[in-house]
Amino acid sequence: MKVVVIGHGMVGSRFVDDLVGRDPHAEVTVLGKERHEPYNRVLLSSVVSGRTEPGSLALPSAPTARVRVLRGVSAASIDRDAREVVDSAGEHHPYERLVLATGSQARVPGIQGVANDRGLLPGVSVLKDLDDAHRILAGIPQARRAVVLGAGVLGLEVATGLASQGLAVTLVHHHGRLMERQLGEAAAQVTTGSLRKLGVTVITETSVAHALDRRGALSAVRLTDGTEMLTDMLVMCAGTIPDTALARAAGLPCERGVVVGADLASPADARVFAIGDCAQPPEGGTGLVAQGWEQATRLVDSWASTGTSGADAPPEERDADGLDPTNVVRVKAAGLDVVTMGLSGKFEHGERELRAVRMSDPAIGRFVEVVVSHGLLVGATVVGDKQAASELSAMYTRMLPVPADPAHLIIRPLAGAARPAATAVADMGDDHTVCQCNSVSKGRIVAAVGDGCASVDDVAKATRAGTGCGDCRSVVAALIAVSASENPGSPSHDDEMSAPALAGA
Ligand SMILES: Cc1cc2nc3c(=O)[nH]c(=O)nc-3n(C[C@H](O)[C@H](O)[C@H](O)COP(=O)(O)OP(=O)(O)OC[C@H]3O[C@@H](n4cnc5c(N)ncnc54)[C@H](O)[C@@H]3O)c2cc1C
Repeated sequence: MKVVVIGHGMVGSRFVDDLVGRDPHAEVTVLGKERHEPYNRVLLSSVVSGRTEPGSLALPSAPTARVRVLRGVSAASIDRDAREVVDSAGEHHPYERLVLATGSQARVPGIQGVANDRGLLPGVSVLKDLDDAHRILAGIPQARRAVVLGAGVLGLEVATGLASQGLAVTLVHHHGRLMERQLGEAAAQVTTGSLRKLGVTVITETSVAHALDRRGALSAVRLTDGTEMLTDMLVMCAGTIPDTALARAAGLPCERGVVVGADLASPADARVFAIGDCAQPPEGGTGLVAQGWEQATRLVDSWASTGTSGADAPPEERDADGLDPTNVVRVKAAGLDVVTMGLSGKFEHGERELRAVRMSDPAIGRFVEVVVSHGLLVGATVVGDKQAASELSAMYTRMLPVPADPAHLIIRPLAGAARPAATAVADMGDDHTVCQCNSVSKGRIVAAVGDGCASVDDVAKATRAGTGCGDCRSVVAALIAVSASENPGSPSHDDEMSAPALAGA
């Protein structure tokens, strides 16, 4: 079977690896616009902050003669009648099945002077790929000030990253409060105070209207309220848009993304599939890597098991109460802990009986709110408290019953009465999902440790746990430590063993 995959990012590369591993007859051509090997895009903000080396982002893949990878080559058009893709060098690639994994593009807001016919003004960037990260890093030594536009999760990560590199950062946000989709007024204020202590000034209810240049490079920005601000750098974190250009040009139905059914096939062409950020499945796209990786696995499974076109419907994440255990949002920033799950910020009560308890201490940058319904934690917001965040996210994702008085959910971790990591992992059921990005259960990790994996990296190689956002690596370390203490003779060697918190459990 001749398969062409367009896009060699996080999802396209995962799909190709899984497909050739499962189907001995598959012959795959992959067209990848980027010059790099596939890499972990999720950690790019950590690269900008200097905490992660760009070289360590490479995603594991096993080369095989049945996969032809064209790096730095774009697909230019799709001819569905002839069943071939034409690339930017003019080469034709015939296919029996075509998989679109073109991802998404950073949204560039309509700011006057931000770009010209040669691209973005020097000093202005987005953070979508490794080249963007290198460009930002290269500008840091000459820069004293930076403006970050957009105070969503990525905006906060970039702003704190640049501040930790010594820049005076202004975070500009159109809404009245930062992270308005996840945080309510009080939590946003506490977060704003914590950002100030890290060297980030937050300005809300305004946006950047003009990028002003001196000698061809950014020198200042003018905000919509007329304020001018000197700056050496502008990083736009204003959201992403699924990359549908090729699919549209080929006459495939597209809305926000490339429309696909539950089988991941286009309703207009049973030979064409879309997965990852570019796809718009019936349940909607999340823009998160876990969804794309699940789609890649599901499509390979269905091709391998039936040989027919499409995949089964995606697994149902929500329970009867509409609780989605995967709905945990974490800001990956040095010196700033913000985690929300389920109901947070301004949410609709609907028909449910909800009880919310909160503790706010702006002086030390701490805010904790829990929302309980029918004996379960259905939402929480935690700013500035790692221990509370790890306890609550463990309760939320495992849907554990909460104490009769929900105040204990807040007080217990604050009083240092949280369960130690070893107890917490020992209490998890084998089917508990430890790695949300790759859907890896505790049972699979324990089995890998039993098979001789002695470090977090060993477990990652064997199961893929920890290779996405990396939040679960401390849990994996705790599982290895528990196993080592139960089997003292077994080898274990890992720096992450000492990780104190159960982030992401
Ligand atoms: C800075 C940052 C932080 C993030 N943080 C998180 C996080 O914490 N958690 C999380 O779950 N997700 C996060 N994400 C989102 C996550 O990275 C994406 O969900 C994931 O990368 C989607 O994979 P994909 O393969 O669909 O798209 P991508 O990884 O974007 O890959 C698409 C590839 O297709 C290529 N391409 C496009 N058009 C063509 C063409 N015509 N021809 C050839 N190649 C083409 C692109 O160049 C790109 O290499 C983050 C993203 C960014 C940028």
